[in-house]
Parts: sequence; C-alpha cells; structure tokens
Amino acid sequence: MEKTYVMLKPDAIQRKLIGQILTRIERKGLQIENVKMFTLNETILKEHYAHLKDKPFFPEIVEYMTSGPVVGMIVSGANAVAAMRKILGATNPLEAEVGTIRGDFALETRYNLVHASDSVENAQIEIERFFGTC
Ligand code: ADP
Repeated sequence: MEKTYVMLKPDAIQRKLIGQILTRIERKGLQIENVKMFTLNETILKEHYAHLKDKPFFPEIVEYMTSGPVVGMIVSGANAVAAMRKILGATNPLEAEVGTIRGDFALETRYNLVHASDSVENAQIEIERFFGTC
C-alpha cells in the first residue's frame, strides 16, 4: 500500500479546519495511519523546502510555517501520493479546482493550508524526516 506524508499547516489549525480536512481525506478512501501535532523550526524547514530556500519569499514561508503548530500525518491507500495531491489542488489556490481543499478553503499561495508529498520518493523521505524518530 502506498504511503504519503501530509501536513496541515498553521493556518488550517488556526482556522479550525482540521476536522473538515481529515473528513475529505477519509471520504476519498485514504487511510490515516498516524497523526501528530508539533511545531516546526527554520532548520527543518530548510530541509523540507530545500528547493525554495534561496527564493526571496523563503523568510515569509518560515514565518508562516512557524506561526503555530502543524499536524503531520502518514496517509496510505492505492496511489496515495497522486490521490492526495488531486484532492489538495494546485499550489496557487486561485488555480486550484473548486472541490479541492485549496480550491474551496484558500485564497493565497502562501496560506494554502496543507502540504502533501509530490512523489513516492519524497513521501518516503518526508515520512522518515517527520516520523522517523517516533
Ligand atoms: P506545493 O506545496 O504545492 O508542493 P511548492 O513545493 O512549490 O508547492 O511550495 C511549497 C510551499 O511554499 C507552498 O505550498 C506555499 O505555502 C509556499 N510558496 C510557494 N510558492 C510561493 C510564493 N510564490 N509565494 C509565497 N509562498 C509560496
């Protein structure tokens, strides 16, 4: 069974959307295997968002992603990586289809509520990064 890493970002928790987002993941038929709430720091964000760490907006990402706790999850199911990206929607919520999490609940790229791994390889790396020590 394929596994992916999903993380509800601080705005999802602040806006009390945990329940609605988990409902959508389960409604799709995906299994929530493990869940934990924790707070990120700049060091782990530089690893997690290594492809963005030289972008001018990286300090804004750090400010946003450390502004409160996140909820990290291991989610499994057939084609879990692609299925999760599909129900999440495009990075820019204005381009995300209505009916997706970002399309229905978000307005701006930075505050786009949820992270989900973009490949099976990255899912394994991210699960190890965030759940490897528990
Ligand atoms: P995704 O989260 O869809 O995999 P990326 O890996 O490209 O997308 O970006 C990671 C996160 O960085 C985004 O979800 C978003 O929160 C933030 N981000 C990406 N591009 C921008 C941008 N141009 N301005 C502000 N924040 C951004």
